[in-house]
Amino acid sequence: SDSHFPVPISPDEVDLSQHYPRYFPSDEGEGRQGDAAASRIRFADVGCGFGGLLVGLSTLFPDTLMIGMELRDKVTEYVKERILALRASNPGQYDNISVVRTNSMKYIPNYFRKAQLSKMFFLFPDPHFKEKNHRRRVISMQLLDEYAYVMEVGGIIYTITDVEELGEWMRSCLEKHPLFEAIPEEEIKADPVVKLLSTATEEGQKVARNGGQTFQAIFRRIPLQEE
Ligand code: SAM
Repeated sequence: SDSHFPVPISPDEVDLSQHYPRYFPSDEGEGRQGDAAASRIRFADVGCGFGGLLVGLSTLFPDTLMIGMELRDKVTEYVKERILALRASNPGQYDNISVVRTNSMKYIPNYFRKAQLSKMFFLFPDPHFKEKNHRRRVISMQLLDEYAYVMEVGGIIYTITDVEELGEWMRSCLEKHPLFEAIPEEEIKADPVVKLLSTATEEGQKVARNGGQTFQAIFRRIPLQEE
């Protein structure tokens, strides 16, 4: 249950030195490294699973701090070890990614301030097929309110699934929400991140191996439109 993992009481309590020691050394004798030192976590991979997206994004945005959020303890530990191993064998790389074990459906506002994030990822989330379980889906109108709060205007939310019904659900929630708008196709094609959605994660690779179809919805956080 949730009582088994610590939750920061506010974003100020998130210990960045634990996640990004090269950027935020706890030993004050060391100097801070690189541009990310001045910044905050900017990307969140929600339900990150085994962390393939973070690994792919790390070198694409070497000065951006990013975090995976994962509910399963063992999977989170695996991602931690994976990142430590990558750092050890590639000195100076993979210092900008980390993972936290948490329930993203409950604790997003504990981790991020208003307008902090520029990208949020929801890749191959659990489908929760039954009607009575739809409230457990990671995209819903209520949760989009929270995601809109922690995202900056202009920020991008990326969703992908191999479950057509869930894909339609995520798209329709985003279309209905007043703080998000669909990104035009040409822009999506030019975004280097989009290719990673179906190729970088373990689930995406599984779907690709099986020749499965995917459904993506990519939307931008927009300001509130006055009537
Ligand atoms: N995004 C990864 C990928 O594409 O390979 C993992 C996809 S997997 C089907 C869904 C992941 O979401 C699982 O690892 C699961 O433990 C995690 N998850 C489900 N509910 C969650 C929650 N409330 N908070 C954080 N993670 C959650």
